[in-house]
Amino acid sequence: IGQFADAVTRGVGDMTSSVTDVFDPTLRLGVTGLSRAGKTVFITSLVANLIDRGRMPAFSAGARIDAAFLQPQPDDAVPRFDYEAHLAALTARDPHWPEGTRAISELRLSMKVRRGGMLSGLRGLRTVHLDIVDYPGEWLLDLGLMERSYEDWSERALARLAAWEVPYDAASVDGAAKLEEPQAQRLARDYTAAMQAARTAGAYDLTPGRFLLPGEMAGSPALTFAPLPPGEAPRGSLRREMARRFEAYKRHVVQPFFRDHFARLDRQVVLLDVLGAIRQGPHAVEEMRAAIADVLSAFKPGALGWLMQLLGARRVDRILFAATKADHLHHTQHARLTAILEAMVKDAKARADFAGARTQAISMAALRATVEETREHEGRHVALVRGRVLEDGMPGREVALHPGDLPDDPAHILTPARRGARTWPEGDYDLVDFAPAPLTLRRGEGPPHVRLDRAAEFLLSDRL
Ligand code: GDP
Repeated sequence: IGQFADAVTRGVGDMTSSVTDVFDPTLRLGVTGLSRAGKTVFITSLVANLIDRGRMPAFSAGARIDAAFLQPQPDDAVPRFDYEAHLAALTARDPHWPEGTRAISELRLSMKVRRGGMLSGLRGLRTVHLDIVDYPGEWLLDLGLMERSYEDWSERALARLAAWEVPYDAASVDGAAKLEEPQAQRLARDYTAAMQAARTAGAYDLTPGRFLLPGEMAGSPALTFAPLPPGEAPRGSLRREMARRFEAYKRHVVQPFFRDHFARLDRQVVLLDVLGAIRQGPHAVEEMRAAIADVLSAFKPGALGWLMQLLGARRVDRILFAATKADHLHHTQHARLTAILEAMVKDAKARADFAGARTQAISMAALRATVEETREHEGRHVALVRGRVLEDGMPGREVALHPGDLPDDPAHILTPARRGARTWPEGDYDLVDFAPAPLTLRRGEGPPHVRLDRAAEFLLSDRL
């Protein structure tokens, strides 16, 4: 706790000396990814590392940052990202992973930066504000709803559940019959449960995103609808009301989110649990690739055409795709993981016909939970990672393991012939969840990570 308190007051102490000036440059960084992709851990470790700047050799602007400290965020109506609680979880005597992202939140980190180049000595320090906006990737996929009618969406939603072999019984429902609220609620509950089951099996593109992560709108009529097969929709019928609520969802949920948050971002990082998808099988990998194309479509210039009229939306000019939890692999495997993600992004760019922001793909661990070791096994060197296994959420025994070799050619994993399959022909990639390693933060030494500094370099350096 002592170290933690120190880390926090280091931020607060500086605050009084820095009054926010409206002319100070700000950079709004969006952090997204599906639930459990690693958003919360990423933001917590990034902020702790920026405050301390000790383990960031690849972050070229780091040397010019004189001080970094938390300040009140500019948006009063958005919950604050609970940095202190998350850092406390990770630095506790029995460290545990923090509570993951459930809704949007925001955090402002302000930095005093020395100017580079010829002007460095002349004009002294300037303040740059980094506003980090954390939001569920599930919500991002809702953008696709804007151009769909209730009938289109229903057809697609039912087909997706069928493709994932998830039970959802809408066929026996008479959509033309008079609306009964308990039935609408039951359908919405059943559909949500079906979405959850598909998600667990590896499906990505499941809408409406708020059914999985409702945020503050749980239980409202805009979140109480479900897909129905096509048919008559007389006035007052279940089907008519479902279609009306679907439109209300677009108007009251999707549109405000994109207008108030998404359209104001400058940079975006998309976190992807690529290893988790590989563990789940080809079907899940294929879903991830499709999801990357969907994400890119949202960032296409003009994608928010219907919003551009409302406001001068900013343009996201850099998007980082990061495969998280790379500390599950020995570093000798990281290049292969990166190559797989790069191939997925390249393919998605072609599919989404994406020209716009600069993109990059990296493998990263925001918080390293393992150590590497090499062992002799039957005359061969085997590269292992060692860590404490998470068992039912509790840290269990320590293991050293080799989770399986990723193929050196990404095509081996991404080949179209594999797309429909559920399992890999040559056996599983055996991954376990690790507990966070005990961590003591010292001044000038942020939490240990893998390539978090490279992420910061791509996302921040040129703007500091
Ligand atoms: P969110 O739902 O996107 O906010 O995801 P979290 O940040 O809560 O991360 C979900 C889980 O992934 C955590 O509870 C950890 O088990 C795991 N995780 C996240 N980042 C890392 C990492 O850098 N290394 C390891 N080993 N596990 C991680």
